[in-house]
Amino acid sequence: MATRILIPTPLRPFTGGHDTVELDGATIDDLLKALIARHGDLRRHLYSDEGKLRSFVNIYVNDEDIRHLQREATPVGAKDTVSIVPSVAGGSTIVEREAPELTREEVGRYSRHLIMPEVGVDGQRKLKAARVLCVGAGGLGSPATMYLAAAGVGTLGIVDFDTVDASNLHRQVIYATSDVGRRKLQASGERLQSINPNVNVVEHEAALTSKNALDILRGYDIVIDGTDNFQTRYLVNDACVLLKKPNVYGSIFRFDGQAAVFAMPGGPCYRCLYPEPPPPGLVPSCAEGGVLGVLPGIIGLIQATEAIKLILGAGQPLVGRLLLYDALTMKFRELKLRRDAECPVCGDQPTIKELIDYDAFCGITPPQQQKAASGPALPEITVEELKAKFDRGEPVQLLDVREPNEFQICRIEGSKLIPLGQVAARASELDPSRELIVHCKMGGRSAKAVAQLQERGFSNIYNLKGGILAWIDRIDPSQPKY
Ligand SMILES: [Zn+2]
Repeated sequence: MATRILIPTPLRPFTGGHDTVELDGATIDDLLKALIARHGDLRRHLYSDEGKLRSFVNIYVNDEDIRHLQREATPVGAKDTVSIVPSVAGGSTIVEREAPELTREEVGRYSRHLIMPEVGVDGQRKLKAARVLCVGAGGLGSPATMYLAAAGVGTLGIVDFDTVDASNLHRQVIYATSDVGRRKLQASGERLQSINPNVNVVEHEAALTSKNALDILRGYDIVIDGTDNFQTRYLVNDACVLLKKPNVYGSIFRFDGQAAVFAMPGGPCYRCLYPEPPPPGLVPSCAEGGVLGVLPGIIGLIQATEAIKLILGAGQPLVGRLLLYDALTMKFRELKLRRDAECPVCGDQPTIKELIDYDAFCGITPPQQQKAASGPALPEITVEELKAKFDRGEPVQLLDVREPNEFQICRIEGSKLIPLGQVAARASELDPSRELIVHCKMGGRSAKAVAQLQERGFSNIYNLKGGILAWIDRIDPSQPKY
């Protein structure tokens, strides 16, 4: 009894146009040998000169990859169907418009791509036709956009509204020191053009919102999520699912990174992985918790790699898999991800059919509502008022709720350090009968500390508005900011 072998479109010219070939054999190896014996031209497409099965040719027995079975020794029977799936087969469904020709200059520029069978002239033309949007021109967006520009992605859109800060430079390598203070879009656009003038850089000077997201994303084939907050992450995810655009996800924190490709047909989305965001303040941002400078380089380049693979239609995309990277142990791990049939946006009966209010979803209330909701306003003191107290020689009880390594960078003289996480447990170290002024870096963590201490009976307590950064800006510029 013969086994059916399905021949993919690109290989049919070598099987006389047949899409199915029936052959006898006990193993995959037998079948492929028999296939080549009948259709000799197939040999060089399936095997290297050394007689090895080419690495970009995948063989499936029914729906299992033979690499997960017994490779070429995998036994086959009459009921089995064998599929040959070359990774470059079938072209990309991601980029459907006609691919433009390459110029002489481009042939020279991309020559190391053109000689790769997985890219070639056709692949390079697909890259040229492709339109990729990067949401955020920060740590992840820097390497992703620079390499995508260099690789010849024809249109690169960038969404950002920020300016370059000195504290960006240790990881956002698209910016030069001389760019500090400039608009990120302008500085990154110039840099990308200097890397590859063939690239059309489209600037979207805006914060991505429920109102503009669909209009902005619609014009692109692939979206790279380089955001740094949960509201925008869920917004990007939902917009990608609604528009059926692949969402190349990456996230970073300290030494850890994650990457995945969401919103592909049949694959999971970010909500399948994380149905709900953490409560505000529970997961610190990179601005609060820090990030190793090289980390976004690694994760951002994984995102760029996935985008290029999707454009080429090459390899196995990071779909249904969550890649975890730990720089400290230098280990990559992979978790299986499945589409959740109950997912509110990509599930079988989605309840989210249009973009929602992502600030509300993530529990972030606009400042004016926050005041009304939280009852009496938090007692605050300005840095000028604090300075005046020092000048008058008042004995000030000053609490710093940052972390010890932040305390090492800069501090207000005379402050006592108790990190926010220990404030409740160590409240007895403070004197509730005296006035207490609490500060952190910018005022967020200290506000939480004030609330915790108020619950413990501290009534003469104030939050230092703007934190130590305001103190350095307006009172003591001799200290470094971070
Ligand atoms: Zn989902």
